[in-house]
Amino acid sequence: MKVAAVKAETYDRPEVESRLGEALALLGGLGSFVAPGDRVLVKPNMLEGLPPERAVTTHPEIVRAVIRAVKAAGATPFVGDSPGTSGTLKAAEKCGILAVCREEGADLVPFDASVDRPFPAGLTVKKFAVARPLAAADKVISLAKMKTHTFMGVTGAAKNMFGFIVGMRKAQFHLRMQARPEFAAMLADLAQCINPVLSIVDGIVAMEGDGPRNGKPLHAGVLLAGANCFAVDLVMAEIMGFDPARLPLAALARERGLTPPLAGIDLVGSAAGVRLNFAAPRSMKSLTDRLPGWAASFGRSHLTARPEIGDACIGCGRCANHCPPQAMTVAGGKVRIDYDKCIRCYCCQELCPEDAVHLREGRLLKMAQRLM
Ligand code: SF4
Ligand code: SF4
Repeated sequence: MKVAAVKAETYDRPEVESRLGEALALLGGLGSFVAPGDRVLVKPNMLEGLPPERAVTTHPEIVRAVIRAVKAAGATPFVGDSPGTSGTLKAAEKCGILAVCREEGADLVPFDASVDRPFPAGLTVKKFAVARPLAAADKVISLAKMKTHTFMGVTGAAKNMFGFIVGMRKAQFHLRMQARPEFAAMLADLAQCINPVLSIVDGIVAMEGDGPRNGKPLHAGVLLAGANCFAVDLVMAEIMGFDPARLPLAALARERGLTPPLAGIDLVGSAAGVRLNFAAPRSMKSLTDRLPGWAASFGRSHLTARPEIGDACIGCGRCANHCPPQAMTVAGGKVRIDYDKCIRCYCCQELCPEDAVHLREGRLLKMAQRLM
């Protein structure tokens, strides 16, 4: 089980191509993952159409380098994702990925319709409705961004596969799997169902704090690659300075044997020894993951950080439109949250264009943290 971690300082085109080539060479070259004639669906993180320097989306130069490498291997790349708040084309245009696709002659495919993909081996979900372009792909490459995530702690190669769930169908999963371990179990099944042959994580400029949209860009200077998305994510968590046992998806992947422990991963490359200290999202201090099921409701009310609306709110209503249990209302430009309905999914914080949703730890949560 090999994961390559290489140092990469900038998004200058020659450097990105050279560093990606270095990482792939450590894994036996891209030819170990794709064959001539394959149609390869490259799946970047295009959460929202924001400029690359915001570090919300996979950098377009990484996408370019992967498109070129796939072509050099004799395969045909095409690119797609389902952003959180807009169509694929609009988001791709704003984050620079559309221009790269045009320049490199790779199709950008919208994820706007779904097909059923049975997954009988799933422990939590046995059938997913996934973006239709997956049906046209022989192989998938996960091209993720190294970021913190208010709900799951971090988002990397495996969580990146959630983009195969089209548009508002994502909210249905938040409603069905409200607790973080349940949601992580669904993500683990989904990542296995999609089964990317190669996972690459763009950590040149990553994101810390209240990611995946409203955190702070952080120069981490690393590029990760490996065949196993869960192993790549375990290495990513280690480099970010997080305990995988506190990250629902990483902890579950270990428990299910989807990745060996860090000590069992053959970690190679110039960044193998890099260890950083990313600021965690506030929500990671939540204690509900450790409570028995019968205490979940009490725990959610008192032992999680709750979303609150700050002065920066412009009353656009995006949060209310995407709130899975419809716990938010907008009237007269003011947002109200019904905390009895709120499931603490933090979609509102993730998607707010003004970074106006703040996560506040209640007194009981702070006291409980002090006692632990
Ligand atoms: S909190 Fe953010 S998303 Fe919600 S209405 Fe205000 S500005 Fe819009
Ligand atoms: S108010 Fe925010 S955190 Fe609560 S359920 Fe709605 S989107 Fe999720």
